[in-house]
Amino acid sequence: MSYPVHRMRRLRRTESIRRMVRETSLSPSNLIYPMFVVSGKGIREEIKSLPGNYHVSPDMIVREISEIRKLGISAVLLFGIPEKKDSLATQAYSDDGVVQRAVQEIKEADTGVVVITDVCLCEYTDHGHCGIVKNGQLLNDESLELISRVALSHARAGADMVAPAAMLDGQIKAIRIILDQNGFPDTAIMAYSVKYASILYDMFFKEGVKTVLKFGDKSTHQMDFSNSDEAMREIMLDIEEGADIIMVKPALFYLDIVYRAKNEFKMPLAVYNVSGEFAMVKSMAREGYADETSLCREIFVSLRRAGADLIITYHAKEMARELLKFQQG
Ligand SMILES: [Zn+2]
Repeated sequence: MSYPVHRMRRLRRTESIRRMVRETSLSPSNLIYPMFVVSGKGIREEIKSLPGNYHVSPDMIVREISEIRKLGISAVLLFGIPEKKDSLATQAYSDDGVVQRAVQEIKEADTGVVVITDVCLCEYTDHGHCGIVKNGQLLNDESLELISRVALSHARAGADMVAPAAMLDGQIKAIRIILDQNGFPDTAIMAYSVKYASILYDMFFKEGVKTVLKFGDKSTHQMDFSNSDEAMREIMLDIEEGADIIMVKPALFYLDIVYRAKNEFKMPLAVYNVSGEFAMVKSMAREGYADETSLCREIFVSLRRAGADLIITYHAKEMARELLKFQQG
């Protein structure tokens, strides 16, 4: 039996009715806010290409976190920009590195915001690659030792979760082992399981973490965006190695991967709505082609509908503010 008995429009008639039958929710607790920690004191500078996002020194971070907590955002993801970069990324695993100091500050303030730290070497190496490089090649096993050292130093500082981003083989296992051996069995791992070699990261590197790739590209370790089965194998390996949360990055162009990942693995799933995606929204809004908030809501609900539990996004604060208004309205 179909029309006129069935009229789909009955349940679309008013906003109150639409709300009753809405299948997908979006709330500030789904959002994770990335933050960029710089060395120095008293610094809070807006990043030009990522408006609403700041370079913040460790002493200023608690103030920022209080705002995030008020907005109901679950977690922050910390990136570090060290004062000095070198070939072995020594600042990445130094106990008084910028991220380590920021984590300590946040934990001392006991804000309740979950602290996740990005674990990679590319923000700390002078050549901009994600590990140790020899003869123009990124070495896998040799880099794992340094990467696990970074994760351990973040756990020691008090991080709730570490997020290995390098796409090196075996990185989750290496980190799980070093954390467990050093008394951090409860520090969770949010794995950048499927990170595609994407053009959409450029602004993050140029202005966010001020890293320039001196040679080559990242296509020998990040995934080819033509592949989908391979993404499932990446996730499977990360789960076997001990990942607690899996991630797909970037987000919007990869909804099929998000959908498959959620269906195949039923794991807590994060997506990273990256700087290029952020810029597309900002450009459309600036040109007057779309209202920014409406655009963000549609994008984020589509990510949730595809299967994402958590969305890492530079829009987090603005979006949370709007969602709180919407919930009250
Ligand atoms: Zn990296």
